[in-house]
Formats: sequence, C-alpha cells, structure tokens
Amino acid sequence: MMGLSIVIPIYNERETVEPLYAALTQTARTLGQLYELLLVDDGSTDGTSDALDRLAAADAAVKVVHFRRNFGQTAALSAGIQLASGEVVVMLDADLQNDPADIPLLLARLDEGFDLVHGWRKNRQDAFVSRKLPSKLANWLISRVTGFAVHDLGCTLKAMRREIAGELQLYGEMHRFIPILAHWRGARCAEVVTRHHPRRFGKSKYGMSRALRVVLDLMTVKYMIQYQSSPMRLFGGLGLASLLAGAAAAAATVAMKLGQGIDMTGNPLLLLTVFATLAGLQFLVLGLLGEVCVRTYYESQSKQPYSIRSLVNFGDRMDAAAAAIARQRAA
Ligand code: UDP
Ligand code: MG
Repeated sequence: MMGLSIVIPIYNERETVEPLYAALTQTARTLGQLYELLLVDDGSTDGTSDALDRLAAADAAVKVVHFRRNFGQTAALSAGIQLASGEVVVMLDADLQNDPADIPLLLARLDEGFDLVHGWRKNRQDAFVSRKLPSKLANWLISRVTGFAVHDLGCTLKAMRREIAGELQLYGEMHRFIPILAHWRGARCAEVVTRHHPRRFGKSKYGMSRALRVVLDLMTVKYMIQYQSSPMRLFGGLGLASLLAGAAAAAATVAMKLGQGIDMTGNPLLLLTVFATLAGLQFLVLGLLGEVCVRTYYESQSKQPYSIRSLVNFGDRMDAAAAAIARQRAA
C-alpha cells in the first residue's frame, strides 16, 4: 500500500478511543491519500479492546492488534511498525495529548527530504516538577552523551519513512531513543514544534520510576551506537589499560623491594598488581565473547520481543499477518 500508516499504542484508554478515532479520521481524510489506523491494544483490561473492535468492524481503515498482555509502549509501537503497510509511518499517543492536526506539518517536513521528523512539545501541558523538569534534564543528558541535539525525546508524535521504521530494533523502553537510533542508521532527522494538550481522560501510565530506566537505557544506547559492532574496542581497550596498570604496579613493587628493601607481601601495590592483571584478562575475554555475540546477533534471524493474540482487519494483507505469526511460532 502506498500512503500512510498511523500507529498508536493504546493501554487502558477507553474514554479516548472514540474522540481519538474521530480526530484522526478527520485529519487523515484531508490528506487525500490512502491511510490505515493501526491501533495496538497493549493488553488493555478496561474495555478498550472491545471499543477498538467496534471501530474496526465499522471502518476497514482501522486495523487492530491485540497483545496478549501488557508488553509496554515500546513493544506496541514496534508491533505497529512491523505490521504497517504504508510508505510513511506516523506514530502518536492515544490520549490526545498529541494533536492529530499536527500530522500534516510533519508530513510536509518529510516531503522536504527528511527520513524522520520528530515532535517537540515546546509548550508542554504537564506538571512541572514531576514531568517537565526531569524530562528537560534527561534530554540534556542524552544530547550530551549521544551527541545528538534534541529537545524532546519523550514526544511520541513522529513521522518516518517505513524503511527507517522497519530497521529500528526496539527493546525495553527504547521508543524514547527512536530519533537517535534512526540517526545512527543514517536517517536524516528534523525536529518540528508540535502542540500539546493536557490529558483529558484517564491517567498517565508512567511515574518517576522511569527516570532510572531512562538512564540505564541511555547506557545501552551509547554502547549500541558506539561499540555495538566491535565490543573489543571497548572491552579490549579497558583490558589493555588494566594490564598496563598491573605491569606498572608490579614494576613499582619490585623496584621498591630492590631499592628500599620494602617487603613485597607487605606492599599494597602487590594487591593492585594482582587485581589489575586479573581484571585486564577478564576484560579481554569479555571483549572476545562480545565479538562472538555480535556475530551471532547479526547473522541469525531476528525475533520479535512480543506476542500477538489476534489480528483484526488484516484480510487483504494475509502475507504480513501470516509472516508475523510464523515468526512468532519460530521464536
Ligand atoms: N501506553 C501503552 N502501554 C503502556 C503504557 C502506555 O501502550 O504500557 C500508551 C498509552 O496508552 C498512551 C501512550 O502509550 O497512548 C503514552 O502513555 P502516557 O500518556 O501514559 O504517557 P505520558 O504522555 O504521560 O508520558
Ligand atoms: Mg500522555
């Protein structure tokens, strides 16, 4: 299918489903191109699932993926991307905090030749201390560490070419790093200021606990973008540095014994020698193991980190549905 796939992760958002559908349909129709609404039900338990099925029954542009349980926003987005058939994938939150009316803005930027356009909630409508401040700090830290200048990685509203979306491998909470991962794969990225509204229905699914997860994910992403394909460059470097420190400590221990008669077993530098040498060897072996893992990772087939209960309205795309199910069985 040429056209647009709008991917939306939905977890217990019963009240927003209808207004969301209305707003999206209104925007999508003005675009004058084929579109599909890919609604990924991330294991909702509040009746959202039935509401989605009702929409799908009434409108063939609505495609619904029901997860067996709650796998998280990243998994939901990832599933939506895998099953998208449009040339362009747009993603946004279900809660109408992102404004569907901004979609044409993003698409216009894509048309200028960008591969990925991400939103910036410049005028964000969330609590300052618990949401905006931590988000500002996180964005600053992430920009510093990864070298990718970005204002608002937490904004789900994005548009990207499907080739780029399909190449992203999203685990854990990695959806926040999509622009960085895409940039790392060579995508041309642009940022666009988007509108943001307070949450009208339901509650946010996240609290402060995500701060720690973001920091841990950042370490993973840093490793991925810098050392993924050659772990030996990181671990081998640490190993050699450790061995060097061990050798220096050993030389100092011997020199102190010969020069000043300092007892070797009573010299703390002997401990450093042993420790640094062992650590150095461990790092080197870790680097070798990493190299083996990387080869397995790249050369074996990719597997999906989610499982789909059922697919709705994929009738004309049995190929994609069948492939998704076959992949699951194989996993
Ligand atoms: N979401 C999801 N699975 C989850 C948590 C959230 O699919 O486990 C969806 C949720 O329904 C919403 C989007 O992800 O569409 C963003 O969630 P939320 O609005 O709670 O995050 P916030 O905007 O507060 O950062
Ligand atoms: Mg929200």
